[in-house]
Amino acid sequence: MDLYEYQARALFREHGVPVLADVLAQNPDQARAAAAHLMADGADLLVVKAQVKTGGRGKAGGVKLARTPDEAAARAEDILGLDIKGHRVDSVLIAVGADIAHEYYFSILLDRSHRRHLAMCSREGGMDIETLAQERPEALARVPLDPTTGIDEDVADRILDEAGFPPSERPALVPVLVSLWEVYRDEDATLVEVNPLVVSPDGSVWAVDGKVSLDDNARFRHPDHEAYVDLAAEDSREARARAAGLNYVRLDGQVGVIGNGAGLVMSTLDVVAMAGEDLGVTPANFLDIGGGASADVMTRGLDVILGDEQVRSVFVNVFGGITACDEVARGIVAALDNLGDAASKPIVVRLDGNRVDEGRRILAAAAHRLVHIEETMDQAARTAAELAAH
Ligand code: GDP
Ligand code: MN
Repeated sequence: MDLYEYQARALFREHGVPVLADVLAQNPDQARAAAAHLMADGADLLVVKAQVKTGGRGKAGGVKLARTPDEAAARAEDILGLDIKGHRVDSVLIAVGADIAHEYYFSILLDRSHRRHLAMCSREGGMDIETLAQERPEALARVPLDPTTGIDEDVADRILDEAGFPPSERPALVPVLVSLWEVYRDEDATLVEVNPLVVSPDGSVWAVDGKVSLDDNARFRHPDHEAYVDLAAEDSREARARAAGLNYVRLDGQVGVIGNGAGLVMSTLDVVAMAGEDLGVTPANFLDIGGGASADVMTRGLDVILGDEQVRSVFVNVFGGITACDEVARGIVAALDNLGDAASKPIVVRLDGNRVDEGRRILAAAAHRLVHIEETMDQAARTAAELAAH
């Protein structure tokens, strides 16, 4: 889960990373009031910043300076509603502006290809990191982190040294790097990036921008992270599936897929992709109802998939083990009963394994107009792909 900048800044503050004051605003009037409030507290420079989950806002006209409340309101008016790389700006952050002497780059990320945490640091902050990494790789220090130590003062000093900071400049930055590691570790982040990390003429250090991604697999131990779930931006179907305890990932295609067991579902995606190749048809989702799934779970799964407007057919592929086929069949029948006339998409069912005969008998007895029973996985995939192509 990616956070908005204002959320990242709030997390930074909690962990002692220096961040200037800010207020979120949804319209120019709120922006004016926020600016007046910040200026009453002593700010003389403000920044109006588009809150969208993408980088490069500055270049896209989404970051503007303001020196009066009216200017802040005018800049908010300019920025609200902008489309930045496909993200519409619905809110702006009114932040106290930093006086910038230097812009540096610092990040900590989970380097999946090397299976380790990695710190990256550069004296050339501000510009986007992909460009820097490509054009001047030598200017970007990459320091693998020992997960048990992370970034303590010694490690921070070494990172800064490798990035070419002279000893005199390091002491002010060391505690900021240590605090950013604490954000990364304590919040179970997979990315904490500050670009630019700013040093002001008076020597103070400020995280002027913040990009944080949290590890969704660790959400169970961060109840407070639920507040960050962006219901508007998150695929509401994924949110609904998660709430229903389903393991669901939305894809781009037309054939809804439900199976039991991640391995079976993944191979089902493969056979559907193969069967649909010449028809221009691909899987619409991954949905694993798990071992021991009840009729109820099947109902919830079908409900999520059938409600997806991109889905044109559904392939239910179950190998009965702990999940007996008769339970699955009852779940399908119950789901269709619930939906009633709202059900309009063909469902191709392939059952095998534990209590398969009973399962097929239940489906045959229900004789639902939308249900197609197939004997094999390959044939079922072909049928589902053909039905989705029409
Ligand atoms: P991004 O373009 O999405 O990465 O947004 P940033 O928050 O990094 O802002 C883009 C640029 O705006 C920065 O690189 C700065 O040059 C400028 N900027 C942002 N915040 C401030 C600030 O507090 N003071 C000043 N003077 N410039 C700022
Ligand atoms: Mn930035």
